[in-house]
Amino acid sequence: MARYTGPVCKLCRREGMKLYLKSDRCYTDKCAVERRSYPPGQHGQLRGKISEYALQLREKQKVKRMYGLMETQFLNTFRKAERKRGVTGENLMVLLERRLDNVVYRLGFAGSRREARILVTHGHFRVNGRKVNIPSYLIKENDVIEVAENRKKVARFAENIGAVERRGVPEWLSLDRDNLKGTVVRLPKRDDITVPVQEHLIVELYSK
Ligand code: SF4
Repeated sequence: MARYTGPVCKLCRREGMKLYLKSDRCYTDKCAVERRSYPPGQHGQLRGKISEYALQLREKQKVKRMYGLMETQFLNTFRKAERKRGVTGENLMVLLERRLDNVVYRLGFAGSRREARILVTHGHFRVNGRKVNIPSYLIKENDVIEVAENRKKVARFAENIGAVERRGVPEWLSLDRDNLKGTVVRLPKRDDITVPVQEHLIVELYSK
């Protein structure tokens, strides 16, 4: 499946905020947003009037890049959110949050969503005891996500889980650190997603 392979710090600088696309580096003063808090490129420091369309586009790009989706995948998720009952923008955020690669990241098994996606694709995880290697798999309430038994000794998992404290495990998940196992206590709600996102701008963009 296609994925972005270019420089990721540029994406954060373009969106003007940390998207945490790398792991440890994002928490140090080497972070590009900390060092150069203006958009990349020759005209990055020029400030012009921002149109309504540009605002909507930037919000969509921000969320899409944060969760590591390409345009078609993101649009498909949006269409799915539209078909669900309730507020489309909130549905979209909840659907993104329920992706297996995001849950692996939230539980601290990976240092970034990007890493989580690779680990899932390589078959390192079991959901309710069964191998799942699809990053877009949507977790459900009471699902148990764990590192495969024969991979539990991989040092990277211990390193990542050791670093989870700095960002914390969300309330809708519970983590058994010793057994590298997490449980979905309940499905996430919009309020559980603390990143500043104005999802109504995305809905407006796709409603044109
Ligand atoms: Fe973004 Fe992390 Fe790079 Fe900082 S270090 S710009 S948060 S990817």
